[in-house]
Amino acid sequence: FQGEDDKGYLYKVLVVGDSGTGKTSYINSFVHGIFSNRYKATIGVDFALKVMNISDDKVVRLQLWDIAAKMKLKFIYKIKIKLGQERYTNMTRVYYNEAVGAFVVFDVTRMDTLENVKKWKNDIDSKTFLPDGSVIPVVLLANKFDLTPEGFGKTDKEMDEFCKEFGFLGWFPTSAKTKLNINECAQFLVNKILEND
Ligand code: GDP
Ligand code: MG
Repeated sequence: FQGEDDKGYLYKVLVVGDSGTGKTSYINSFVHGIFSNRYKATIGVDFALKVMNISDDKVVRLQLWDIAAKMKLKFIYKIKIKLGQERYTNMTRVYYNEAVGAFVVFDVTRMDTLENVKKWKNDIDSKTFLPDGSVIPVVLLANKFDLTPEGFGKTDKEMDEFCKEFGFLGWFPTSAKTKLNINECAQFLVNKILEND
């Protein structure tokens, strides 16, 4: 489905974070323009393709990988097929393999999910590398911002410092529900991905 000319602009982007933070909702909102209040845990892996018109002659296809269920997968594989640890490691490599960018999502109403983004960032940094060996660009999403109109207890400056300390490219307050910064954060990440390409 892609021509020779724009072959280089198919990018795999990971969407990770604790369960219930809104990863699937972000993708549904960004790619399909829909939002649901109902919670349905992702089983396996969700994919979605978003075509972004960067300029008149540049089209980027973002392949979003919603891989939150990897722990669940690990469990399923353990009991069903009794995969060895080595094979399991290869499974997770499939998820991370060849990703050129990532979003880490936390839920502004559950600050423990912000604490856990450090773990997610380490996970990405230890498994995914650009061809030159450097880590992939990662953007932090402070999701469900619509639920905390007065802020979530961190100043912008504190969040900027957090990003600096843990190696995030930047952060956005987002809402899959109201679409706050849904496109902006993707644009920001894609600009960095294009720079790296
Ligand atoms: P995932 O486990 O990270 O994929 O989380 P989901 O996308 O399934 O979302 C978990 C729950 O949070 C669902 O009930 C969603 O409707 C809700 N949710 C997700 N994003 C938002 C948001 O931006 N605002 C609000 N108010 N609810 C959200
Ligand atoms: Mg999900």
